[in-house]
Amino acid sequence: MSELIRCAYCRAERPANEMKAGKISFRDRHLVTRKAFVNNKTNYYCADKPCHGHDQMAHEG
Ligand SMILES: [Zn+2]
Repeated sequence: MSELIRCAYCRAERPANEMKAGKISFRDRHLVTRKAFVNNKTNYYCADKPCHGHDQMAHEG
């Protein structure tokens, strides 16, 4: 039995071997200083679909 991972963009749950890790960057604000900065995080996306690119575009505002 293989582990299921949920795509961060389309929310599909798929086996780990059909997923890939993708880093996205987004504007964030520091909790203490309130200064804007570029943050990033690593999510999992469908390996055979453009979910990673779409999610990055959604975060660029
Ligand atoms: Zn997906």
